[in-house]
Amino acid sequence: MIRGSTVLRQSSRCLPRWASSAGSSRNTSAAPAGKARFSSGSVVRTAGPSSQAADTAAAAAAGSSVVHAALPTSRIDEKKVVLGWDETTYSRYHHIWLRDHCRCPECFHPITKQRLVNTFEIPPDIQPTHVQSKPEGLEVHWPSTHPHVSLYPWSWLRYSSYDPPLSQSPPSEKILWGSKILQDPPTVTYAEAMAEDNKGLFKWLSNVFGFCFIAGVPATPEATEELSRRIGFIRETQYGTFWDFTSDLAKGDTAYTTLALGAHTDTTYFTDPCGLQLFHLLEHTGGTGGATLLVDGFYVASILKELHPEAYELLSTVPVPTHAAGEPEALYTPSTRQTPVLKHEDGELVQVRWNNDDRSVIRNLKPDQVEPWYDAIRLWYKLLSSPDSEYWVQLSPGTAVVVDNHRVLHGRSAFNGKRRMCGAYIGTDEYRSKLAVLSERFAPDPVTQDTAASASVNGRSVWHPAL
Ligand SMILES: [Zn+2]
Repeated sequence: MIRGSTVLRQSSRCLPRWASSAGSSRNTSAAPAGKARFSSGSVVRTAGPSSQAADTAAAAAAGSSVVHAALPTSRIDEKKVVLGWDETTYSRYHHIWLRDHCRCPECFHPITKQRLVNTFEIPPDIQPTHVQSKPEGLEVHWPSTHPHVSLYPWSWLRYSSYDPPLSQSPPSEKILWGSKILQDPPTVTYAEAMAEDNKGLFKWLSNVFGFCFIAGVPATPEATEELSRRIGFIRETQYGTFWDFTSDLAKGDTAYTTLALGAHTDTTYFTDPCGLQLFHLLEHTGGTGGATLLVDGFYVASILKELHPEAYELLSTVPVPTHAAGEPEALYTPSTRQTPVLKHEDGELVQVRWNNDDRSVIRNLKPDQVEPWYDAIRLWYKLLSSPDSEYWVQLSPGTAVVVDNHRVLHGRSAFNGKRRMCGAYIGTDEYRSKLAVLSERFAPDPVTQDTAASASVNGRSVWHPAL
């Protein structure tokens, strides 16, 4: 571990994500809300606008003794149950919603974590006979031929409050970086990544930079494949499952040549581009060159947005057709036209999709958009390839690198001699699942913390916020 301990200690307090669209991470950043700062090649921390709200909710949920000291008030309305958290904060829950979310073993299978209650047999006008605030949660009595009682933990009710929303998930934490990352790139050791207690794996997968080196990997395909499978299932593609290749054009793609490759993301021609890519240079003999290029797409996007908002807007809205057609037996194009270079969800940048080599004919521009669009990708390219953005590193056998393919672009310089690479793609969902499981253990969310002792079955709380 080389990186300065300050940054990593902060990030390990959170539930950071490689993948920007990840779920319930908390943001403990002190940076100005919603504003990414940047300066020449600097490391930038982003902060969401709702970090304060999340902290408040977390404190409320975690501080169960505070909740118990003064129980929330509860009463029944015509259509809703109204909870008073304090004298000015109220949450309302529709009766039908509460009944549908009962988590007793009759209504929710405690092992499979699947709904058992027949939602469609609940009378639309159902109303509790009475509600009671208890230290462990809200008790709700339902009318029925055989009466039914539900108990909802306070932390879960607060987290789930939708009228009004009280604890929105802030954007996942990321630290944006430029070329100066070379002074101190994020690194874990192979021993950490493989250790049985999974602590090192959690540290590795909690990475907030969008890439990470793994040092001390045996320079064999077997060890590298084992390392890849620590994250999750390998995603099989037209390049195989776990790949091991040289510049012999064994597959119809420029990756299999000695050509220089500009910064790009992989599999832009998939509807769902591969989530993570792990690669390892096993051998380079009889030649030079072949340095690896890494560029933080989110960092470059933040600069583009600041300096050229109109270009940013075009790259965020214009779908870019792409293809993979170098193999006679494969012809890939994404099924959706919704494939801009910069993809957003709820206003937050969640994915960069860029490979100029794989771009298809662009017919979807309006005539008056053609020149502005070319201006926009020219500006994007200029920022991507500026010395401030580019991180060049000469990899050697023993050091693997994993890259978030939805955020960090990679490339290489031309080379000669024999260069043998191996690696794999791992899906975003597999990665997110692994990180969620590790987070339950090493950094549980407040609701899980609050309910684990009373409501865990088969190692997972029935009130886990993801359920
Ligand atoms: Zn029930």
